[in-house]
Amino acid sequence: MQPKSYLVIGGGLIGAASALRLQAAGFAVTLIDPGDPRRAASFGNIGHIAAEQVSPLASRESLRTFPGRLFGLGGPLDFRWRDAGLWAPWALRFIAASNPDRHASGQAALTTILAHALPAWRRLAELSGAPGIIAREGLAVVWMSPQAAERGLCGWERSATGSAAFRRMDGDDLAPYAAVMARPPVAGIRFSGTAQVSEPQAARDALMTAFRAGGGEVVHAGVTHLTGGNRILARLEEGGVREAEGALIAAGAWAGRLMRDLGVKAPVIAERGYSVQSAEHGWDEALPPTVFEEQSMVVSRFTSGLRASSFVEFGSPDAPGDPRKWRVLERRLSDLGIRFSPEPDRWVGPRPTLPDYLPAIGRLESDPRILYAFGHQHLGLTMAAITAELTASLAGDRDPAIDLTPFRIERFGGAGRW
Ligand SMILES: Cc1cc2nc3c(=O)[nH]c(=O)nc-3n(C[C@H](O)[C@H](O)[C@H](O)COP(=O)(O)OP(=O)(O)OC[C@H]3O[C@@H](n4cnc5c(N)ncnc54)[C@H](O)[C@@H]3O)c2cc1C
Repeated sequence: MQPKSYLVIGGGLIGAASALRLQAAGFAVTLIDPGDPRRAASFGNIGHIAAEQVSPLASRESLRTFPGRLFGLGGPLDFRWRDAGLWAPWALRFIAASNPDRHASGQAALTTILAHALPAWRRLAELSGAPGIIAREGLAVVWMSPQAAERGLCGWERSATGSAAFRRMDGDDLAPYAAVMARPPVAGIRFSGTAQVSEPQAARDALMTAFRAGGGEVVHAGVTHLTGGNRILARLEEGGVREAEGALIAAGAWAGRLMRDLGVKAPVIAERGYSVQSAEHGWDEALPPTVFEEQSMVVSRFTSGLRASSFVEFGSPDAPGDPRKWRVLERRLSDLGIRFSPEPDRWVGPRPTLPDYLPAIGRLESDPRILYAFGHQHLGLTMAAITAELTASLAGDRDPAIDLTPFRIERFGGAGRW
């Protein structure tokens, strides 16, 4: 029998968007989340609806360039050694997923889902009564030297970019940077077919406000354990139980443990990213999110300030931040002459990533009342709205808009740890 009520476990962008879509489809929905917004990757991300990122990072190219990207050599990639027990088995699966055939099928799957990302966001913004969530179109990738520009452009010209397209920036496109930086870029490309949200947390707040206004219940608690039976029971850390006819697991980088309890392997790792944000700045409102490729840094202007993000650090989602990484970000901003607070808001958060860099979206084969949506890696904001539509289709026993076979969690094998 098709469930009429759902527990949504996790209130990041994936859980919030899905709760609202499930509610709009007529289900009674309770969203359970501990209620600390800064814990979620959805809080401090860079807000870019990245329709162009169709190439999974599990690739031969990633393996080839791996040594040069290490933090110890000035790059963005790092590993928390005390968490090696978490990422070492993940890394073996990553290497296996990087073979050319798997990369090609992953790229086909990402191309399909990402083509729906921006239209789905426009529909979701409409549903939540907050069309202003989508703030501006486009993305810029810029370079500080002609040599880096030549190399970078060559790389982008060889890359697939899905439904997004780019053109070289001209003098008019580059001029606004000279007004807001001491060392402006010499060249860049400008994407169309992508967009930016007004602010990630503001987008999540708008979804939650609409969900509550529609009668949705929000419980501030952590789920320790999910069990199936006649009904799905969620045991809460704080004591007590919540129950419904169905459940959606949308717990981001923390989803692995809940899935393991259900006998399903879900090798999700936390790829921790770092952000700094300044309320005071002089960044031009018209500038899109800008990738400074040589600095491995993205800068986005939001309603509450200017944010810069970088780094991929493999480790536990709950580990404290590494202050060296915030300092590097702050130094890079200062070297470029971008006006920024000397005491910015510092944040670290976990991108939830599966070894093949495809999300897990579907219905458990062992218990069809349990849906899952996690593992959206660097693209969880991008894919939140389309993921929500797909989970609502599954819940309503309707054919989803795209083939979900590549996103089955069972692709990682049967029961066990991983
Ligand atoms: C620096 C940085 C920049 C990024 N930039 C972009 C970008 O520009 N565009 C893009 O598309 N993506 C970006 N991302 C990735 C994006 O932020 C994530 O993919 C996305 O936020 C994941 O959303 P989520 O809802 O799955 O997980 P989360 O946002 O992490 O939310 C999971 C929620 O589940 C809760 N939870 C965990 N365990 C339990 C439990 N047992 N019971 C109840 N609740 C639980 C957590 O507390 C949390 O609130 C970026 C990420 C980082 C770190």
